[in-house]
Amino acid sequence: IVSQRSLQLCSRCYPVHASWSYEAIKQQYRLEVPEYFNFARDVLDRWTEVEKEGKKSKNPALWWVDGAGEEVKWSFEELGVLSRKVSNVLSDACGLQWGDRVILILPRIPEWWLVNVACMRTGTVLIPGTQQLTAKDILHRLQKSKAKCIITDESVAPAVDSVEAECQSLKFKLLVSEGHREGWLNFKDLLKNASSDHHCVTTKCQDPMAIYFTSGTTGSPKMTQHSHSSYGIGLTVSGRYWLDLTSSDIFWNTSDTGWAKSAWSSIFSPWIQGACVFVHKMPHFDPHISLSRFPITVFCSPPTAYRMLVQHKLSSYTFKSLRHCVSAGEPINPDVMEEWKAQTGLDIHEGYGQTETVLICGNFKGMKIKPGSMGKPSPEYDVKIIDENSNILPPGKEGDIAIRVKPTRSPFLFTCYADDPEKTEATLRGDFYVTGDRGIMDEDGYFWFVGRADDVINSAGYRIGPFEVESALAEHPAVVESAVVSSPDPIRGEVVKAFIVLTPDYALHDPEKMMKELQDHVKKVTAPYKYPRKMEFVEQLPKTISGKIRRNELRQKEWRKD
Ligand code: ATP
Ligand code: MG
Repeated sequence: IVSQRSLQLCSRCYPVHASWSYEAIKQQYRLEVPEYFNFARDVLDRWTEVEKEGKKSKNPALWWVDGAGEEVKWSFEELGVLSRKVSNVLSDACGLQWGDRVILILPRIPEWWLVNVACMRTGTVLIPGTQQLTAKDILHRLQKSKAKCIITDESVAPAVDSVEAECQSLKFKLLVSEGHREGWLNFKDLLKNASSDHHCVTTKCQDPMAIYFTSGTTGSPKMTQHSHSSYGIGLTVSGRYWLDLTSSDIFWNTSDTGWAKSAWSSIFSPWIQGACVFVHKMPHFDPHISLSRFPITVFCSPPTAYRMLVQHKLSSYTFKSLRHCVSAGEPINPDVMEEWKAQTGLDIHEGYGQTETVLICGNFKGMKIKPGSMGKPSPEYDVKIIDENSNILPPGKEGDIAIRVKPTRSPFLFTCYADDPEKTEATLRGDFYVTGDRGIMDEDGYFWFVGRADDVINSAGYRIGPFEVESALAEHPAVVESAVVSSPDPIRGEVVKAFIVLTPDYALHDPEKMMKELQDHVKKVTAPYKYPRKMEFVEQLPKTISGKIRRNELRQKEWRKD
């Protein structure tokens, strides 16, 4: 009965809309959330059926290539068989049970996808982590999460061994490698001998599915718990109308396997649509190679890759198959969007969201794009700009970007910060979940990012968002990138200070003259009161592992100094 209900849900949840208009979808689109849902069974196994009936394109579910010419292509059926085997490894060899937590730290290798799906099938709670974690980070995550099992490769295994004695909950270590290591079970050996018969557990929609750590841009990364239905159903709109995917697409998302963004865009959004997930494991990240060599049709990346790519002076013939591009994770500078359009003929559809949410705002397919804006709210959420007393602010007024959670909290929002009710509670204000980001909604209902609440500068009564100043600086040929923060000032309270990385051609210029030139430039391209009164030229900016600028680190240094 459960399965029947879920299949009905699939066809209701994932209807094919021939035409699309934002207003129509906003009015009509209601994702239904049933009592039971499991993405592996209700979506992936359903695609296997469609594939067997010959009703979908011949593209694989997963297409993986590496720099050495190795290649893996799995249909949905093969993905099903292999992930069932991995499920048996987790249940039998490791004795893991529903609700047990599993940390997964692997590079972009096919096994990463198998473990993701196997955790859904077994009801174990997946906690992905990036390869760049240190032994101290791993200790912190193992202790905080009380994970029972860790799955990783030999590059990370020594770090795990060095802290294991302090992690009482850890019972199983699985090594994904051709080689063996003492104290570790070998994943590949176990997989070879595992049966492909596995009965997917029955999961309720609100049962925990995964815990994703936030990027740690503003402090310690938070353990964000999501249910089976949140990303699994909630990313439908994102897959269809932001990424514009169908089962004929080959979709490349560049995120590291350690972040929620890879769940969003390398698992749920594309597979809801039956699209092919393309993965390129490269020794050095070079998106130009991937986009020109492979028939990628849809591309998703943070702004930094676009900044890199436009340096190549592309033409519309360079990436023959590419037809749709999206950016997320940080604001994308309007001049990069313009450059990209001029060189490739394609728009960049910016999206905005958090580990805690599905897509909050997006420049959806067919919508007019206003460069610099994050687009309009996703139909899943009622998004508003609110003040400190949770009053809704009118268009044009800056405030906190918030999602309505009363009377009903969206099932597509995180369940909680795992094991931390106080932190969870602190995200609520009145009827809203507060994102921690500041923004403005314009008269047309488009949202504009001002900055993270802590990053906004208040200088002599003027509120200044760092992103606008950074974008103005980026338009000058001397600037590679910059971070704008507040700095103490005896008269104004605080002033705008820019930390700037210069291009090699300008690095040796006289700093005084360079500063004057950049200040004049900012005054010309944006409202003059925003210009940085202080400047420091630096070799690099402090960033999170996922590449986001850590303005709070620079700001703290400024305020400590004086
Ligand atoms: P932490 O919460 O640990 O400080 P984080 O907020 O960077 O880290 P994520 O959940 O990965 O962790 O990132 C979500 C945040 O990224 C958003 O709250 C917002 O500040 C920023 N962001 C994402 N997309 C955009 C975008 N298109 N424009 C501007 N900012 C964005
Ligand atoms: Mg955050």
